[in-house]
Amino acid sequence: MGDTARTVARKQLPLRPAGPDTVAALLDWYDRERRDLPWRARRGRRADAYKVWLSEIMLQQTTVKAVIPYYERFLARWPTVGALAAADLEEVLSAWAGLGYYSRARNLHKCAQIVVSEHGGRFPRTEAELGRLPGIGPYTAAAIAAIAFGEPATPVDGNIERVVARLFACQRPLPGAKREIKRLAATLTPARRPGDFAQAMMDLGAAVCSPKRPSCLVCPLQQDCHAHALGIAEQLPVKPVKPDRPVRYGFAFLALSEDGQVLLRKRPEAGLLGGMLEVPSTEWGDDWMPVDQALVAQPVRADWWPVPGAVSHTFTHFRLELQLFRAIVPTDVSLTFWASPERCRWVPRHDLQSAALPSVMKKAIAHALREH
Ligand code: SF4
Repeated sequence: MGDTARTVARKQLPLRPAGPDTVAALLDWYDRERRDLPWRARRGRRADAYKVWLSEIMLQQTTVKAVIPYYERFLARWPTVGALAAADLEEVLSAWAGLGYYSRARNLHKCAQIVVSEHGGRFPRTEAELGRLPGIGPYTAAAIAAIAFGEPATPVDGNIERVVARLFACQRPLPGAKREIKRLAATLTPARRPGDFAQAMMDLGAAVCSPKRPSCLVCPLQQDCHAHALGIAEQLPVKPVKPDRPVRYGFAFLALSEDGQVLLRKRPEAGLLGGMLEVPSTEWGDDWMPVDQALVAQPVRADWWPVPGAVSHTFTHFRLELQLFRAIVPTDVSLTFWASPERCRWVPRHDLQSAALPSVMKKAIAHALREH
């Protein structure tokens, strides 16, 4: 049994799971604390589908704060879906400039034209029909159906996913848990005010049930929240485990001249760290090679002293463990064939800061010189 499971077994869960009372508490909170957003309807009114759709498309991968000025400009210029459908695509794209992900703007325009040509200028009201329009995925379809049409649909974005995972203490890692979280969210969606419920969950996730340090003490759902009761709110939802990076191993040789210079080598132009300087090293393999084999790659014949400890550096696709050898050599020492002498040069220690050294090599040099 893992630590989390043991915690669950020890602690006392709230008596009731989240249900209709939870929803009522959330809607009360929403009536008091709801965010005032330009696309939202006044209290008790139903929002306009065009406004909901426009805002939801803009909000994909963009923050509320960044979206508001764009939303207001779009609405002033194209106040209806018909006006947007009749607009020139180039104008729409230039009004969108700065919001990024331009395929969203193209789909926005295409969608407006289909709403006009196939639906008489009115958005369809069901999740299924909305989901067939360009640029409208499952979340957006559910959000429009619930918020604009009062359909009992359940949009689940990142905020809602987090709130639901915590309410029910869902400990299965994402993305495998998505279907379960969606099912649990749907069990809460009320027949009355489903749009307000969705927006309340969005607001709660944004303002109270934040990813780090959720404000459980002021949360209207605290009584029913299993993650809070178990003390594991911050750990949920469980993020997918990233696969371990492979590790590569190598030995590098820091040769210091008697007059205080360091032998560096230029890496080949193509490939990792192409054209940058390095401390001459062996190949980087899948395991440590025997030391006598590593010493074959020494750039000069010398008494190499192994530097205790290894340097660890993480690249995008692998981690490197590098062990260093250090030696002091005469300036006129000849370089071995293994050093690729044509690519080697002596660099004074005081010029190392400005040399084209990648961070891994800066780390390696600092490590090798630490006790020198
Ligand atoms: Fe989120 Fe805490 Fe509220 Fe639970 S009690 S829903 S963890 S803020």
